[in-house]
Amino acid sequence: MIAEKKESGTKSVIKLEHVNKSYSQDEIVFPILNDISFEITEKKLVTLMGPSGSGKSTLLNILSAIESADSGKIEIYGHNLSQASEGELTIYRRKTIGIVFQFFHLFPYLSAIENVALPLYLAGVSNSVAKTKAEEVLSLVDLDHRKAFTPKEMSGGEKQRVSIARAIVHQPKLIFADEPTGNLDSKSSKIIMDLLSRCVKDLGISVFLVTHNEEIGQSGDINLHMLDGKIQTK
Ligand code: ADP
Ligand code: MG
Repeated sequence: MIAEKKESGTKSVIKLEHVNKSYSQDEIVFPILNDISFEITEKKLVTLMGPSGSGKSTLLNILSAIESADSGKIEIYGHNLSQASEGELTIYRRKTIGIVFQFFHLFPYLSAIENVALPLYLAGVSNSVAKTKAEEVLSLVDLDHRKAFTPKEMSGGEKQRVSIARAIVHQPKLIFADEPTGNLDSKSSKIIMDLLSRCVKDLGISVFLVTHNEEIGQSGDINLHMLDGKIQTK
């Protein structure tokens, strides 16, 4: 099933063919993802909804190369993720993608700017360049006034803006966000969704987000729905 009609000349960003994943416990196999196939072209905001336990996070983890599929083909920008070496996957995680979590996953003892600069330090960028870039993206998410604050000194919405800054500081091509507004009030949720839309429109990043919010789940360029380990367009 193709999730979207591909116009000629548009680049394929995510392409899944017959992807399966199951977990085993005490020799009982639990199928989680069941023959998933879809394709997403570039610069799209993609939403994914579905009941708890339907496999949304598992799919996101597979796309983020945190987990691997049991079978099927996963292509990101034409590169087969299933055949990539561990070294290539590390580069993929560090350079190609950015990840945003529901509960932020910020380092509690680091300031906003240090949290945002961290992926650049890990990539070997010098301290001064990393700090300058972190400052630029914190400004982009309207947090100039919070750059020296630690997570406990910030609201949930501000923490999520720091996470988004951290996810885009290395100029990724793709952002995966697992319920990024799941822990936020409606006003903060709107700010986060506006920011993610700007990532797509202004920065050309593709965003793939999981949500439980019906309104957000209908607001994407492509809105997917997951049920019984299968994906359907809505
Ligand atoms: P969702 O994000 O849609 O709520 P998940 O992808 O987190 O769903 O989980 C889908 C199913 O897979 C759930 O039944 C969950 O218990 C199971 N599951 C997820 N991760 C594991 C794991 N590491 N080991 C065994 N079962 C798992
Ligand atoms: Mg989940």
